[in-house]
Amino acid sequence: MPVEAGERVAARIDEARLWQRHMEMARFGGTPAGGVNRQALSEADGEARRQIVGWAQGRGYEVASDAIGNLFIRRPGRDANAAPVIGGSHLDSQPTGGKFDGAYGVLAAFEVLEALDEAGIETRRPVEVVSWLNEEGSRFQPGTMGASIHAGSVFLDDILHVTDADGIVLSDALKAYLATTPDLPERPFGFPIAAYVEPHIEQGPVLEEAGESVAVVEGVQGLRWFGVEITGEAAHAGTTPRALRRDALKTANAMLTRLYQAAQDQADLLRFTVGRFEVLPGAPNTVPARVYFTIDLRHPEAAEIARMTHEIEAATRDLTAPCEAAASRLADSPPTVFDAEVVATLERWRDRLGLAGRRMMSGAGHDAMHIARVAPAAMIFVPCEKGISHHESENAKPEDLAAGARLLAATLTDLALRD
Ligand SMILES: [Zn+2]
Repeated sequence: MPVEAGERVAARIDEARLWQRHMEMARFGGTPAGGVNRQALSEADGEARRQIVGWAQGRGYEVASDAIGNLFIRRPGRDANAAPVIGGSHLDSQPTGGKFDGAYGVLAAFEVLEALDEAGIETRRPVEVVSWLNEEGSRFQPGTMGASIHAGSVFLDDILHVTDADGIVLSDALKAYLATTPDLPERPFGFPIAAYVEPHIEQGPVLEEAGESVAVVEGVQGLRWFGVEITGEAAHAGTTPRALRRDALKTANAMLTRLYQAAQDQADLLRFTVGRFEVLPGAPNTVPARVYFTIDLRHPEAAEIARMTHEIEAATRDLTAPCEAAASRLADSPPTVFDAEVVATLERWRDRLGLAGRRMMSGAGHDAMHIARVAPAAMIFVPCEKGISHHESENAKPEDLAAGARLLAATLTDLALRD
């Protein structure tokens, strides 16, 4: 087989340099426990932005921003008018986040630009790095803010008034953030993207357990949230006989017993979580008058989410007497199926580069699910230690990060050489 351009670029991925950049980036918002607190639009987020812009300008790349602060670093191709091929992710973190969630995708894509330079490859299309603004949504909601605005599913004007927990308005925080990198040319939202590939740590244990270094991600499972409210009646715990009780917790217990049972799918693909549970008035000697709980439901297939929705509605209807119950939908995000051609290209390169890995669905939401609505998109996962993420102890191996970057390098090069 002749050596293809993608292989030459992959061979230039520098594991030590990529790791070093992670350590340098982790200084911005670095916590004593070794994690990162780099919430969107914070001072640390602005410093991280200034750092990557500095690296990019040092290499002579063109840097641009859009009005929400999505950042684009461009290595030009032969055809200046061709839509770019883009790799990247996000630089913001959870308040007690780690060094790799998000940062990996941006730094791996940046490594690809450098590898393209060092391999001396001229692509037809420009190759770009993106850092989407505010993926995490821990400070300003909604999360995946920059990617959803790019994709047109959220409008900038509708969210500029949003405030954080300290009452700081998004528009003010954004102004200060954009001022960290003045004089960048402005990109419009929604410009055409030829293909988008997002590398990310898996945030789950599957790859590490299997001893595999990469996964080609073919989609993102769907998610639906419910809030369930059960209304009974407060009464004295010592004096009220069973027949006269309207115990909201007893009803909740009956409903949840049935729902946990219904959620036991054979394939273990359904994710059913009650993460918040409130009992009122919450006194040891009073029959509970009210229970509120949330349900977080996830599955790769819309039909399974619909089946569980049906179960929740049935439980809310049939198991509630003598109380009343109502379930309301709090969030709904249908499953994402990534682009078949981008997925096939990733798999071809994974095999050609001799990387061990599988196909999988993402259990968590990512910027890529929004971009997939407007451009051919897919993702790469690499293992992280014990699957731990959104935690200061988040960790990954330099060789796995490099393996994912090699797959990204070959794939973006291949896609950028195409018409
Ligand atoms: Zn992330």
